[in-house]
Amino acid sequence: MGKAQGAENEQDKTKELELWNPWEEEEEPEVWIDYECVECGMLDPVPEFIVDECSYELAAGESPEFFCPACNGTLVRKEEPADK
Ligand SMILES: [Zn+2]
Repeated sequence: MGKAQGAENEQDKTKELELWNPWEEEEEPEVWIDYECVECGMLDPVPEFIVDECSYELAAGESPEFFCPACNGTLVRKEEPADK
């Protein structure tokens, strides 16, 4: 008896999971990281996921560098995250 009831509860849980909207995750606000050109000082925020992708091959603590769209100079991370 107890076992049958347990199975029922499991089914209810599954239903709830199906109702949960899987697309909700994509609506999270994008995080932008401030990058600044060392040549002309232009600010060019880069989405965090791109920075993360480019950080993949770097040593821990290193930040990737990008090219300035204005002068083709070097874009460097403006400030390190306080705690991450
Ligand atoms: Zn520049």
